[in-house]
Amino acid sequence: LRACRSAAGMSLSCQMNALNDPSAIVEITPSARVDAATHGWRAKCLQRLIRMDLPVPHSFAISAEAVRAIAAGAMPDRARLAKMLAQGKGLVGVRPSAADPAWGGPGTVLDVGMNAEIHARLAFELGQGAADALYRSFVQSYAIHVARLDPDMFSDDNATLAEVLRAYEDETDEPFPQDPAQQLAEVLRSMARAWDGPTARLLRQAKGAPPNAPLGLVVQDMAHALGPGVTGSGTIQFVDSVTGQPRVTGRFRGQTQGTARAVNAETLYLLKDPRGLSLEETAPEVFADLVRFGVAARERLREEMQIEFVLSDKRIAIIDAIRVSRNSRAALRIAVALARDGIIRPDEAIMRIEPRALSDLLHQQVDPTSPRDLLAKGINASPGAATGQIVFTAVAAQAAEARGEPSVLVRRETVPEDIRGMHAAAAVLTERGGMTSHAAVIARGIGVPCIVGASSISIDARSRTLRVGGRIFREGDVLTIDGTTGEVLAGAATLLEPALDGSFSQLLDWADQIRTLGVRVNADTPDDARTGLTFNAEGIGLCRSEHMFFEEARLPAMREMIFADTPEDRRLALERILPMQRDDFLALFEIMAGRPVTIRLFDPPLHEFLPHDREGMRELAESLDLPLSDVTRRVEALSEFNPMLGLRGVRLGIVLPEIYEMQARAIFEATVAASRKGIHFTPEVMLPLVSHGREVALMRNLIESVAATIRTETHADFDYRLGVMVETPRAALRTADFAQQVDFLSYGTNDLTQMAYGLSRDDAGRFMGKYIQQGVFEEDPFHILDQDGVGELLTIGVERARAVDPTIRIAVCGEHGGNPESIAFCVRAGVDYVSCSPFRVPVARLAAAQETI
Ligand code: PEP
Ligand code: MG
Repeated sequence: LRACRSAAGMSLSCQMNALNDPSAIVEITPSARVDAATHGWRAKCLQRLIRMDLPVPHSFAISAEAVRAIAAGAMPDRARLAKMLAQGKGLVGVRPSAADPAWGGPGTVLDVGMNAEIHARLAFELGQGAADALYRSFVQSYAIHVARLDPDMFSDDNATLAEVLRAYEDETDEPFPQDPAQQLAEVLRSMARAWDGPTARLLRQAKGAPPNAPLGLVVQDMAHALGPGVTGSGTIQFVDSVTGQPRVTGRFRGQTQGTARAVNAETLYLLKDPRGLSLEETAPEVFADLVRFGVAARERLREEMQIEFVLSDKRIAIIDAIRVSRNSRAALRIAVALARDGIIRPDEAIMRIEPRALSDLLHQQVDPTSPRDLLAKGINASPGAATGQIVFTAVAAQAAEARGEPSVLVRRETVPEDIRGMHAAAAVLTERGGMTSHAAVIARGIGVPCIVGASSISIDARSRTLRVGGRIFREGDVLTIDGTTGEVLAGAATLLEPALDGSFSQLLDWADQIRTLGVRVNADTPDDARTGLTFNAEGIGLCRSEHMFFEEARLPAMREMIFADTPEDRRLALERILPMQRDDFLALFEIMAGRPVTIRLFDPPLHEFLPHDREGMRELAESLDLPLSDVTRRVEALSEFNPMLGLRGVRLGIVLPEIYEMQARAIFEATVAASRKGIHFTPEVMLPLVSHGREVALMRNLIESVAATIRTETHADFDYRLGVMVETPRAALRTADFAQQVDFLSYGTNDLTQMAYGLSRDDAGRFMGKYIQQGVFEEDPFHILDQDGVGELLTIGVERARAVDPTIRIAVCGEHGGNPESIAFCVRAGVDYVSCSPFRVPVARLAAAQETI
């Protein structure tokens, strides 16, 4: 059978084998051999419910192999089809049963087997109206989903049975099929084939399914909500899908003709009940049974379930149970609650949460007290709020992302081809669609704030305009999307930082107990450091010390230093900078309160600090009291053809040693000052962009001599650790040259990626979209570490360094340190810790734990 698996045009013998296999069609009983891999998740779930003695109607499971054979043209023989139909009143429902519930499947078809004979019998038993309604809705659904007739002709709820039967005959030139076995065969075939369609395939692939994911089918006796007394059908769940808090919600419709209505209160309502009483009040014993079933299902299925039930004169039939749909916040709370209640283990709770989902909880929200320029309201499809410039295409969203600009992707509706654009956008807005439309499903999956079905907006993608309420917005105009409320706002609204609850910290505490990889924060400012600490970063793994000089007030001092002509002048300028740096470092040391702090010495080419236009140079000449010509000459002299490969990193230290001397002094003086305040720790000094062992040797001497001087000056003793960043391919190959001289290595995977590919970090965005579109790169290697190439450089470097010094500490501090896939690689490569931007620290802690489990 395995050999048949991928064959689209399965050979006849394979088809027959698949259908004759004992697992092909199995009656679901407590002892039957039903498993999720063979028959799908729904079949297995029903078996568990049956084993719990819940009142589940008779059901059969059709294996995925058999469904494949059916799609390829085979069909179970009449006897077996008839057996599936023969259990109850001769009517069955057919439901999809994919291996993973998230992958969805073709829509359920109910009342298969219905024909004139059964209709007549039901009319006698239940009354003409109920029987007509059942038959009519079956013909309609069969016409649309099985015979694939025009849905518009069969969607009228007011049509009569006679009208739809006539319409069917008119369209197909044949009377409506009366043979139940033939109906069932056609339903099975159409569902099996729908699963193979391109849209279904793309949709499930977006949810992580493999391209040829298996689909089983379940054929179940119909339980009808017909008859006198408390009768109807509904769903019930025991947690809130948005908050994850315990809460009984659901919907219930009395009789099948009733209209379903969502209920917000704590109880289920009998909508047809003239007194408007709740199910809990009307039929307390039924309600109590449902709650009891819910509690049992949660324990046995180890999951929060939504139970679908049918009541017939107070008799309950459980026809299905699915995992409660949930957003990230609810998912986290549910997993933690299940583990706290001892139903699952903490490590299972950890595995149930996508690391990326944590960033949903960290999402911004629109400040409810701030003014809102409300443009339109749509369906709040994915929570969180974001502001960005309007873009009308997925490509434009990717281009905006590459430029580092947040965008709002505005589409009439989204198609699978838009997925990349949705990943790139800060938020998504569609004119059409609903809660389960493509945009909504995808956006929730990836945690992008999203509003769908904002029907009062009108989009013209060609002229790149969006019209709403007499106002026109163009590409580049700014919108705020409040995916939590469904409101589209003009301009940039005030956004609030998210609030986290106890489940978040509980899950991460469990993750911390399991993970072996350390997680530090990349912090250049006290704010970054504080945020990192809130998220339990174990220290600072990268402080880009030059970033402390990018602010207005600091720039003049830096520029004065750069313009110094002689080492002496430079030293004077550096003396002005020294106290600023010392205060900066002391502030970080105080915040981190004894945790490790890695200061990276200046990295960027100096001209980054200089103005580039004439006006800026004129201002600079004025502030430095120099002739303009001197300033332009100096700026020109400093300019480089390829600054990323020019005088930057440790090369600055070699060429202009006074700069690193000043920085080392600032670090050590701050260390002594901190220790006098009772904060004892060992600072870490890191050299950027090294490529040669001799560079390290020179800088090591320089730093050690500064340390010795300060020990003498301050009469204080202190220690420090020296490290290098591995950012050039040569450095990665020659880590053994550094391992003898330093205490730690930290991979700067941003530069290492840039240099391994020969691909500019700053320019790659221009064509990255094309590269990904054409499948040259599967992912942007600046987002997800290229494990094959850059990863190999990393592993070679780790091995060679450890061969010299098995205890050397190895870190990754490039952007990849906060990306789950790259973190998993770091764990496997034996990296000791990663360091990432503050808001990604929780993601890194969880991803690290998952890779350890
Ligand atoms: C790196 O190159 O990965 C790194 C962390 O340094 P920067 O991003 O500052 O170049
Ligand atoms: Mg770098």
